Amino acid sequence: MRSLDRTAINAPADWQDKVNDKLPDPEAYASKAQEFEQLPINGQQRRNSFTKYAPEELPKRRRKPYFPTVWSSDRRVKSALATWSHSKCAYCEDKINARRSQQVEHFKPKSLFPSLAYDWDNYFLACNGCNGTKSDKWPESGKYVRPDQDQPETLFAFDEQGGMKARETSSDAQRTVDDFGLDRPGLREARKVAIRQPLNTMRTVLAQRLPDNMKRRLAQRIVTEAEHPEVSYSQAKGQNLRRLWHEHFPNVSLF
Ligand SMILES: [Zn+2]
Repeated sequence: MRSLDRTAINAPADWQDKVNDKLPDPEAYASKAQEFEQLPINGQQRRNSFTKYAPEELPKRRRKPYFPTVWSSDRRVKSALATWSHSKCAYCEDKINARRSQQVEHFKPKSLFPSLAYDWDNYFLACNGCNGTKSDKWPESGKYVRPDQDQPETLFAFDEQGGMKARETSSDAQRTVDDFGLDRPGLREARKVAIRQPLNTMRTVLAQRLPDNMKRRLAQRIVTEAEHPEVSYSQAKGQNLRRLWHEHFPNVSLF
């Protein structure tokens, strides 16, 4: 996970109108949503979802109330989110180029936070794996790490085997790893493979008979390339490369 600048993305001017067109009574929806969000977060009524609490405020399909999926029917949402996060999952940094694999993820689930169901600030681009694992989860206490607010670069540690954990145990960061499945086996393996290539390049440079300042310049180039925002698993790569540098040159800062 790496930081994303929320000011770089905005809802189009007609967004709320498009949403309102889909709701039976937008004003009543808004006030019911507010009322619902006053309920205790862990209470049964709240956990049962807004669809059960105020079914009259939602359209129905086969008599079942549902949130109109404007975030996926309006193609601008996914396009803007994909551009914003460089076609990468905002959580695991997996590159997701195929449109059908790009999910619009509600950071705070709409079932518990209906007032944010159509709020662009609540949207991130996510891969199927992260979106599916997190699903409608929201912690009983604390929160999850937000890529646009919480400086994720400082919160997670990646090892050479592709493993990911929070730097502090029992933290919002560790809860994020657990509930989003950020250390799931498939992802660990993909990260391990991705990390290996720049690490090998760096090892070759370090093993060469070159002046230290030359090695440093070459290492800087490898790290800068690996940490480019477009690159998948850039955090995992960058951390491992920097660690390798400092193992060889404990007293020489890389940049
Ligand atoms: Zn992901």
